[in-house]
Amino acid sequence: MKADMILIRFGEFTLKGRNRGQFERRMLQKVKGVLAPFPDAAVAHTYGRLYITLNGAPYETIAKELKLVFGIHSFSPVRRIESDLEMIRETALELMHSLPKEPVTFKVSVRRVDKSFPYDSPEMNHLVGSHVLRACPNLKVNVREPEVELRVEIQPEGTYIFNEVVEGAGGYPYGTNGKAMLLLSGGIDSPVAGYLSMRKGLELEAVHFHSYPFTSEQAKEKVIELTRRLAHYSGVPIKLHMVSFTEIQTALASSNQEPLIITLMRRSMLRIAQRLAEQSAALGIVTGDSLGQVASQTLGSMNVIGRSTELPLLRPLIMMDKNDIIRIAEEIGTYATSILPYEDCCTLFVPKSPTTNPNLKVVQKIEACIPNLDKMIEEAVAGIETISITPGARTTAEAAGNDDWF
Ligand code: ATP
Ligand code: MG
Repeated sequence: MKADMILIRFGEFTLKGRNRGQFERRMLQKVKGVLAPFPDAAVAHTYGRLYITLNGAPYETIAKELKLVFGIHSFSPVRRIESDLEMIRETALELMHSLPKEPVTFKVSVRRVDKSFPYDSPEMNHLVGSHVLRACPNLKVNVREPEVELRVEIQPEGTYIFNEVVEGAGGYPYGTNGKAMLLLSGGIDSPVAGYLSMRKGLELEAVHFHSYPFTSEQAKEKVIELTRRLAHYSGVPIKLHMVSFTEIQTALASSNQEPLIITLMRRSMLRIAQRLAEQSAALGIVTGDSLGQVASQTLGSMNVIGRSTELPLLRPLIMMDKNDIIRIAEEIGTYATSILPYEDCCTLFVPKSPTTNPNLKVVQKIEACIPNLDKMIEEAVAGIETISITPGARTTAEAAGNDDWF
């Protein structure tokens, strides 16, 4: 059986009744974007699902793109036929014959949604199953753990026949759960934190702190490339704010509080990120912190660092192990870029023995003694260079599908 359609099921947002209409419209736009290079293909919206009619467009290419779309729970290549018993039986058999490997066990699962169809679901299971069994003498029924589940959905507009259910990215459509600023370093963790945030429906702007000329031009390129990878998933351009941190970092270093330098740097970073968030109407800050990973990510450090901002700090990786984070980084294609060896502004000043339990009062006192810290923060905000990073390879899809998003 050759699939002529793709059935798309939505993710968890179907639970959110109030916003459902908006989410579904976003999904429709997103899928239209994926189909843009294939003008013959069409998409229709029925009963909380989407149906793509391929009209000759390549299933594999489209499936690859659909797997990246946040909000798609799963999808299936399907064949739609008239709701006619004989046609259903024949197409079901055709599907069984077209499988890449002949199965030993199977089961039929019929869902009769159209109650005007004369046979109910249990009757249909039997009518279709017996037809297949007669034609395939080696095949056995196994209702518990079948190798192949032959699915038949009898809907008012026709009957869908399929067996494959492909897992989607899940989550919520990009941008349907508000906006946050992502603190994006050149490391492994923060791009993964960004990906997981986007999957939850957050729109992101990225902030990177550099210490040019101490940090190199390549370090900047690396962060641009990581943002480009993330934009591949958002499907729309992501703003990257480049903040010159050299002056602040130098001032913090000259306070001679070596064990506290990372704490101090992070607090200034958060203040700048908060200012940017206010300008962009973002309501949270995302970081790649993972509990206990380094001195600045102990609970004690996070407590003192986090008090420098009033915005919620979102840390998607907080309870994850490094191996799990690396696995996701590899899957989403950021790992290879993240491990390029260019200096980050923080690695330049890594103290020999950073504190794991800073004291808030002491830290506040040190900050108060640094001349012009507030002014330097203002200047850093004023001097920000903002770049809009577009997703590389998907420009056609993006241009066609998402113009009127934001
Ligand atoms: P990453 O792999 O994301 O760099 P890390 O394990 O190296 O994380 P840190 O360097 O301590 O941890 O950074 C913790 C978090 O602080 C990062 O995940 C990131 O969100 C933020 N951060 C650190 N350095 C920068 C920077 N130069 N620009 C923007 N954000 C940064
Ligand atoms: Mg880092």
